[in-house]
Amino acid sequence: MNPVYSIIVPCYNEEAVLGETHKRLTKVMTDMGESYEIVYVNDGSRDETGNILRKLAAEDDHVRAIMFARNAGHQMAVTAGLDYASGDAVVIIDADLQDPPELIPQMAEKWKDGAQVVAAQRNKRAGETAFKKITASAYYKLLNWLTGGMVPRDTGDFRLVDRRVADVIRGMPEHNRFLRGMFASVGFRQESIRYDRDKRFAGETHYPLKKMLKLAADGVFSFSKKPLKAITAVGLLLLLAGGLGLLALLILLLCGRHGGLWWMAALNGALTGTVLTALGILGEYVGRIYDESRGRPLYIVADALGFDEEQ
Ligand code: UDP
Ligand code: MG
Repeated sequence: MNPVYSIIVPCYNEEAVLGETHKRLTKVMTDMGESYEIVYVNDGSRDETGNILRKLAAEDDHVRAIMFARNAGHQMAVTAGLDYASGDAVVIIDADLQDPPELIPQMAEKWKDGAQVVAAQRNKRAGETAFKKITASAYYKLLNWLTGGMVPRDTGDFRLVDRRVADVIRGMPEHNRFLRGMFASVGFRQESIRYDRDKRFAGETHYPLKKMLKLAADGVFSFSKKPLKAITAVGLLLLLAGGLGLLALLILLLCGRHGGLWWMAALNGALTGTVLTALGILGEYVGRIYDESRGRPLYIVADALGFDEEQ
């Protein structure tokens, strides 16, 4: 029998929090009084996370543990969770308790009232640096504009989705995944609840700037073709400016005057910069096409514990 709820928890080096996370999740889910499973995905952790999950899977029937062969990233860990989860409703939640498990009953209520995606929108971000707050806010504004308002602001991956929505997302095999955008883009009845994001319970963020930038780029380039259009617009503008410049030069020459050469150098620099930027933007799309064409698996599972024999 499929459980009513599946809780997906991506874990990367979370030894310091897992015990507490499991305790709080278990309390919330038992209080709800319906069947559930917790699908922990160990994303190639190098600490004790794997052993802790093995122990939890052995002790608790509700626990499933997917062990990745290597670190594949947060979005892939959630993707694997979606593939293995069998509940009627699927909840995605961070392992570090920044997303309070106590909100799950509120999400479930909306689901029972007919919502098919219940996203948790952040009111404020406790314990995050001013840099993160400012860049996140600017990024969401940009993304909102680029995608015509498709990706809601201040919404992370903490959400509950109906089985039907989970199945639709499972049918999307793209490699550069920006799940919050994918969920927002499929339609269905979407609602949100607001919450105050807590501080990390323990440990450090595993989203260093480099991973953050990759996720941000996936949001932009996997969801919008506007950057490509911008290249054309800049190209046309430069063409026009160049044409006018040449005309002006011709007139100067005809009047027997030489234009200075200094501005040629500046113009050359600006033009080369523009062309290289345009190539870079094209490269983002071409690289993504390359990823898709290789068709490699999204993640590699070394071990899956806690599932019935027939699965
Ligand atoms: N995570 C993961 N793989 C990674 C990085 C992070 O599975 O390569 C998990 C991590 O264990 C946590 C969630 O993704 O459950 C969010 O990561 P984190 O809390 O480090 O990011 P932040 O909240 O600081 O953005
Ligand atoms: Mg966190």
